[in-house]
Amino acid sequence: MKKHNCDKAEADITTQGHNPYEIVKKLIKESVYSLELHENIYYMLEKPMRMLEVSIPVRMDDGNLRNFTGYRSQHIDILGPTKGGIRFHPKVNVDEVKALSIWMSLKAAIIDLPFGGGKGGVIVDPEQLSERELETLSRTFVRKLTPIIGPQKDIPAPDVNTDPEIMGWMIDEFDQLRGYNIPGMLTGKPIIIGGSLGRLEATGRGVVFTIREAAKKLGLDLTQATAAIQGFGNVGSMTAKFLYELGVKVVSVTDARGGIHNEEGLDIPDLLEFVGDKENYASDYSKANSITNEEMFGLPVDILVPAAIENQITKETAPTIQAKILAEAANGPTTPEGDKILEEKNIFVIPDILCNAGGVTVSYFEWVQNTMNYYWKEEEINQKLEEKMLFGFDKVLEMREEKKCHMRDAAYMVGINHLVKAMHARGWIKDSDLNQNPE
Ligand code: GLU
Repeated sequence: MKKHNCDKAEADITTQGHNPYEIVKKLIKESVYSLELHENIYYMLEKPMRMLEVSIPVRMDDGNLRNFTGYRSQHIDILGPTKGGIRFHPKVNVDEVKALSIWMSLKAAIIDLPFGGGKGGVIVDPEQLSERELETLSRTFVRKLTPIIGPQKDIPAPDVNTDPEIMGWMIDEFDQLRGYNIPGMLTGKPIIIGGSLGRLEATGRGVVFTIREAAKKLGLDLTQATAAIQGFGNVGSMTAKFLYELGVKVVSVTDARGGIHNEEGLDIPDLLEFVGDKENYASDYSKANSITNEEMFGLPVDILVPAAIENQITKETAPTIQAKILAEAANGPTTPEGDKILEEKNIFVIPDILCNAGGVTVSYFEWVQNTMNYYWKEEEINQKLEEKMLFGFDKVLEMREEKKCHMRDAAYMVGINHLVKAMHARGWIKDSDLNQNPE
């Protein structure tokens, strides 16, 4: 079958046993404290407002039934409908999905999008399914989610191992159930049925906007800079493309099977052509040397981009990192121990909830276009994306300067501040919740 692996590179990389939900809760708690807010704010934000677990029975090609498990977490809906992708991955679990939905809330808040955070996942290795089995799984999952999703409630999108084709099946299922077309119920769909120009490239494009801004800040000339990327799915490959276009020498990329390295810089357009529509693995590209994931982290590059899954920058990998900029294209790629080491080494971290927010930003544009039923040119979309990413970057930088903290803490504080204002405006919290030690 054709591989459905937008972010396939992630599939076999282990998450090292860290619990992302515990990590995000700790970070929220610290930010609430640094913002001098009452701990009531933490209690309001620590739990998703709704978490649905569903069974997804699929008749397999061999005639047997297999019953998969899926989740959808909706974190908070004060700013608008919840929004976020659906991933298919064998390591999906309740806590991961909860954490991912909280990260989506913070991303939307930093970029000032009228959305809350949501995320879904199915415990499955899509590599093991036939095309028909995958389609049945996708359609059945949407049927099970139907009561809680919709353009004004919760809007799914692609994530790890899901792509526009899968979104096409999902929206078709929803439309058939409702009896008419509802293009805004999901984003990242094929352009012909209401997808947005620029959505496929959006996350990588956004990542590179933030790298460009960080380089400016550090006085790093990108035409003389080198980069290495972990993961060559949608996000990793698009990041490589846009870095290459800016004149950055991308010397190494890795995927689930291994990695490639060329000190002189990889020919990214040629590599993208080789990988094609996921016909080949980047690690099988013959015009480069092979390299392991661990070796790639330690390369003497200026920019390192983890674009795979959680918990890759750890107490084992962080000490080897030589990069000046770490751009978190993946969600949650750094463990707290890894983070501490990055701080000690004074590496400029562009945190995930800012760095990879370009995807949900163009998803927002897609939803807006669907709502007004009028479609913008790609140029216009890319320009609006750039504006939004710079807006978010500047806000985080300002907070970093104000609080004399690291970029990750600053990003959390910007996001939390925004949510606090909305909760206050709705009367969910009182003035006394805005002070650490109320009278
Ligand atoms: N899955 C992407 C993310 O983690 C995009 C979500 C969306 O477009 O709604 O940000």
